[in-house]
Amino acid sequence: RKLNFYAGPSVLPLEVFEEIQKNMVEYGDSGLSLIETSHRSATYDEVHMGAISLIRELFAVPDNYKVLLLGGGATLQFGMIPMNFLPKDGHCDFVVSGSWSKKAYDDAKKIGSVNVLFDGKSEGYVSLPDAGDVKPSDGSSYVYITSNETIGGVQWKDWPDTGDVPLFCDMSSDIMSHPVPVEKFGLIYAGAQKNLGPAGVTIVIVRDDILERCADGLPAYLDYRTHANKDSLYNTPPVFPIWAMKLVLERMKRIGGIEAMAKHNRDKASLVYDVIDGSDGFYRCPVDERYRSEMNVVFRLPSEDLEKAFVAEATSKGMMGLKGHRSVGGCRASLYNSMTVEGAGELAEFMKGFMKEKR
Ligand code: PLP
Repeated sequence: RKLNFYAGPSVLPLEVFEEIQKNMVEYGDSGLSLIETSHRSATYDEVHMGAISLIRELFAVPDNYKVLLLGGGATLQFGMIPMNFLPKDGHCDFVVSGSWSKKAYDDAKKIGSVNVLFDGKSEGYVSLPDAGDVKPSDGSSYVYITSNETIGGVQWKDWPDTGDVPLFCDMSSDIMSHPVPVEKFGLIYAGAQKNLGPAGVTIVIVRDDILERCADGLPAYLDYRTHANKDSLYNTPPVFPIWAMKLVLERMKRIGGIEAMAKHNRDKASLVYDVIDGSDGFYRCPVDERYRSEMNVVFRLPSEDLEKAFVAEATSKGMMGLKGHRSVGGCRASLYNSMTVEGAGELAEFMKGFMKEKR
């Protein structure tokens, strides 16, 4: 297999692929594949509730939060959050730190009034406000942030204290890559597909009192309470991604849980950033050093021609997906949970060799 540095859709540990392969046609000795077994059966229930309880355990989710497993991608949450929590006569606060928070902001504006606390656009989305400077405006219904901007490579390291106003966060591209004080948030959500499994399931972690604020009159699927009241089994859940996610979580537990994951991710990111920082300007990371992402390392080379050559040569050596997002150019190495330290090390060595040859 090649090394996967793509920013998505999904990176799974090899042993999980192998476990899926082994159990795909027949799940255990049940005589059926899990994906054709009723989602109301005891067999599936064990998978579904098992995945939820592993999220609770590994991510240290307090008892007064619900963990929901939804469809629609993280993108559905851009709309679902304001539909539920942004009153027509009220407003919310946004930190616009990159392409993903901008998309969420654009959707929220369609529902109601949005106040911008910080907008990184003029600088090219390379920084964040100090967490201590993020203060909700008077009467705000919630403050919205994005923990890791997948395209810009900007990641929060501290969390704002928003007092009585709940903090909502899109953690799609760094969920469960390191410990997070869940109790500081009113709602956390994440598409599973970067760190936890195949695309198709979105995790929503929401505090009980926030659920009480859901707007009335929404279509059933769009009302968080529908899912909370039915353990996310109101309609047919995305059974395959949930099963695969459970296997990823079981493996995370086996290798030492989220603390071990955090060390593994720090080590990988250091390998690549050390090459950038030691390259005397050959490689350049545009992101404010304080907020460099451990998940998506973005970097530039001295020219676009060299960037093209870098990506082409890496690809020929089996390192896939190093081209930066089309909206920003440059290069990007995504180092999600399932990328190994050895894989990141191989990339670091390749970067050194490429620099030696081309500078
Ligand atoms: N939020 C972030 C931070 C993302 O990186 C992505 C996708 O890459 C999304 C939201 C959108 O996710 P989805 O494609 O699951 O709708």
